[in-house]
Amino acid sequence: MYHKTRVRFAPSPTGPLHIGGVRTALYNYLYAKQQGGDFILRIEDTDTTRFVPGAEEYIRETFDWLGLSFDESPAKGGAYGPYRQSERREIYKVYVKQLLESGAAYIAFDTPEELEARRGEIANFQYDATTREKMRNSLTLSQEETQSLIDGATQYVVRIKIDPDRDITVNDMIRGEVVISSTVLDDKVIYKSSDELPTYHLANVVDDHLMEITHVIRGEEWLPSAPLHVWLYRSLGWEESMPRFAHLPLLLKPEGNGKLSKRDGDRLGFPVFPLEWKDPVTGDRSSGYRESGYLPDAIINFLAFLGWNPGTEQEIFTLDELVQAFSFDRCSKSGAKFDVEKAKWYNHQYILNLTDGELATLFAPILKEKGVNATQEKVTKVVGLVKARVHFVKELWDQSSFFFVAPVSYDEKTTRKRWKKETPGQMRALMQLISEMDDFSAENQEKAVMEWIQQNQLHTGNIMNAFRLAIVGEGKGPHMFNITDVIGRDETLRRLEQAITTLTEREENI
Ligand code: GLU
Repeated sequence: MYHKTRVRFAPSPTGPLHIGGVRTALYNYLYAKQQGGDFILRIEDTDTTRFVPGAEEYIRETFDWLGLSFDESPAKGGAYGPYRQSERREIYKVYVKQLLESGAAYIAFDTPEELEARRGEIANFQYDATTREKMRNSLTLSQEETQSLIDGATQYVVRIKIDPDRDITVNDMIRGEVVISSTVLDDKVIYKSSDELPTYHLANVVDDHLMEITHVIRGEEWLPSAPLHVWLYRSLGWEESMPRFAHLPLLLKPEGNGKLSKRDGDRLGFPVFPLEWKDPVTGDRSSGYRESGYLPDAIINFLAFLGWNPGTEQEIFTLDELVQAFSFDRCSKSGAKFDVEKAKWYNHQYILNLTDGELATLFAPILKEKGVNATQEKVTKVVGLVKARVHFVKELWDQSSFFFVAPVSYDEKTTRKRWKKETPGQMRALMQLISEMDDFSAENQEKAVMEWIQQNQLHTGNIMNAFRLAIVGEGKGPHMFNITDVIGRDETLRRLEQAITTLTEREENI
């Protein structure tokens, strides 16, 4: 066993990283940091047919956005590089040779057509101890025949030779010890002469070993590969330094029991990718959490809870707190239901946790886009008044536009209900009162207006609702006097005047 904990996130650049992949990376990060270890990014790009341009860049941008940094990666380098498997071809060849020489692997020449024919003849055909004798490989051909085929540039693959009836133990930190019989495994292809590249299984194991990985933390979908990986470790003589495994529970769709898919996201209107993705071939766009307005810390907190819980009531954790609290003992074996409402809830909590100044800074680009020019001081005040009502920064505009622009129209229904015959006169009197106040603070306004209402035996609801309609244009918004305090006396009077004119004209037209 090595002294230092080293974990890796090993995505294949076959498209945009799925949100489940981000969860896997996060758990790797949490465990590594808790143990004072290293968190490594390795790009598993040996399957050239599935390579998608831009996917690696997308991965890098995702983790930059989330603020989870790798100790070693293709971009950053490190002592165990290169960190892209396509740049490690020569390394794998050494181990392919070793496996062939020790008899742990063999060469197979069967063409796709021949394999297809076998599948037709034999039910549930798999290439293994019982069928390999009937196939065209270095075990059934003579050494000379094999050599001459290779010399004649015949395409071949290398297969791992799985001996039957052996127990294979996968020691999983979440699932415990799982023992399976080697008889169920097939002789998987580990190398292809056509592109001179290993397959995922061999490259993955060789790199985990050479990079001194101590813990393999990955999605449950890789659990079926684990026995083969253990077998490869054994065959390569590396059993002593084999990493420990942790296969994380699947992310399940919001309803039902299936695996969360992009289709669920499209159907229910939430992203399944961290960042927006533009398909390089079709040009189709898929939405991302970043572009949908989620804060990176909220996403981290949300993902941490998809498959793990602290065993207490606490739901809000900083990244450092997660690092401290994380444990595999508290990871669940069963799938974690994906609940986007919970993601929204987290976003709301993280918005509330920002200072008003920070939130104002996030809101600034939206105001600019709307053509609003307001001081940071005003914006800070405004967001403080409305932030409790939003789940996303972009929703701030809807909740606060009236702080920045006067209403140009008045909500029909509210007007019918709130603007009565006597209202214009009352609003005129209110204007008078407002222009005479010496102190225009929210508290003082409230005191003065309430007194005036009482003295004149007016109805508070009628006055305040009409006042709100004049200032906001509809019946919503925070406390009335907080609004007028922010927009100021002149603007308050202007809006009252405007409402009286517009709504009285309307009255006359009816
Ligand atoms: N390349 C695999 C993937 O795309 C890695 C699985 C593993 O972590 O071993 O997820």
